[in-house]
Amino acid sequence: MAKEIAGKTVEQWTQGNPYIHDIVDGKPVFWVNDKKGNFEAEKDQVQFSAEDIKDAADRWDRFAPWFEIAFDDTKETKGIIEGPYTRIDNFKADVEKRYDVDIAGNMYVKRDDLLPIAGTIKARGAIYEVIHHAEELAIEKGLLSGFDDDYTKFASDEFKDAFSNYSVVVGTTGNLGISVGVTAAAFGFQSIVHMSSDAKQWKKDFLRKNGAEVVEHNTDFTEAVNQGRRASEADPNSYFVDDEDSIYLYLGYTTAAQRLAKQLEDDGIKVDDDHPLFLWLPCGVGGSPGGITFGAKHIFGDNVNAFFAEPTHVPSLLIGILTGQFSGVHVGDFGIDGQTVMDGLAVPRTSQFVSQVMEHFFDGGYTLTDDEANHNLTRLYDTEEIFLEPAATAGLSGPAYLFKSEEGQKYIKDKGLNMDNATHIAWGTGGSMVPEEDRKVFYQAGVEK
Ligand SMILES: *Cc1c(COP(=O)(O)O)cnc(C)c1O
Repeated sequence: MAKEIAGKTVEQWTQGNPYIHDIVDGKPVFWVNDKKGNFEAEKDQVQFSAEDIKDAADRWDRFAPWFEIAFDDTKETKGIIEGPYTRIDNFKADVEKRYDVDIAGNMYVKRDDLLPIAGTIKARGAIYEVIHHAEELAIEKGLLSGFDDDYTKFASDEFKDAFSNYSVVVGTTGNLGISVGVTAAAFGFQSIVHMSSDAKQWKKDFLRKNGAEVVEHNTDFTEAVNQGRRASEADPNSYFVDDEDSIYLYLGYTTAAQRLAKQLEDDGIKVDDDHPLFLWLPCGVGGSPGGITFGAKHIFGDNVNAFFAEPTHVPSLLIGILTGQFSGVHVGDFGIDGQTVMDGLAVPRTSQFVSQVMEHFFDGGYTLTDDEANHNLTRLYDTEEIFLEPAATAGLSGPAYLFKSEEGQKYIKDKGLNMDNATHIAWGTGGSMVPEEDRKVFYQAGVEK
């Protein structure tokens, strides 16, 4: 008997839904979220609110004086972890040519590759989770008298000595480990990163150089994470950062939108009924695109249009939402192999709570092939001299999908959008950490043959 997912075989799922059909076939899709109502009606239906965003923003602000002391590269921004965005007219012309489509509106890339400390979008979520934990522990232990105390004390020997009795543990091969590992070590925590032994050597070297301990496992990635979790759970002085279901990662990301809103305002870029904003967000487990979308909807309402980009080989959030099973489905259940060059997005199962919240908020999603990502990477470098890692290029195809697909055209028409005034922002989620030799390999993969 064929394997069943929520009482249906793969064949029944694919026959019942044209998007699931194409996804299982490995074909790129563009899907509009038909389960979403308008923002004002939806915003009270979920477990988070504007209060949570404010709470996160305040926490980031409280820690700014500490960041300035602990990380030189945050001095210029006065302890705020933020980066610029760049207009990419030349790249837009290249996309139009490659996809044979006209794109109305201006295109930009948000430069999370340039974020201080970690050079990836994880700096927004993972670092937030570590400061949240450090603050909670400092208050619990009586080191800090309250939120209005002096946060430069976190850089003192007294705090570091106290924190050295505690550990922060994470299991990952990727960017999450770097953000958590480096920040935890800066606080004086025992910073422990569990990795599978096939993880890239430069990542292990970087972490060790920055005071983290790297524990290597001769197992696959999932088993390395599990072993890390078990070791941490056995120790009451240990805190485990869980990529799969962390609300603190998510809450850290929500504050990105208000920073972006301020940048757009300073540059005279309008977002209103006559000036739609499109965010094209690379999606792995869903925390970063979900958090950013949540924050953006609270600022711009439905004048922001948020779409998530996933690899055709790892469409975990899309398949979770289309089947209504959320984290209950693994891409492998549908015979999808989970293999992709966009390694930051290679998460086979979506986050339960993020996908449930996003069902109310995000406007849709699309999948792209590894070839498209490779070309985005190479052509962005050729046309704009910006290097992004493969996962970070996923959003760059979004505007082409919007204009090229029937679903996209219908979305524009139904919403009555004035696309000549549109601003497209592809979230460039990382890249500056990638060593030179790896960059060359990635670049070569996207050169037209
Ligand atoms: C983690 C990551 C993402 C996706 O974030 P999720 O929270 O997993 O959805 C995108 N790009 C890069 C470079 C990442 O490291």
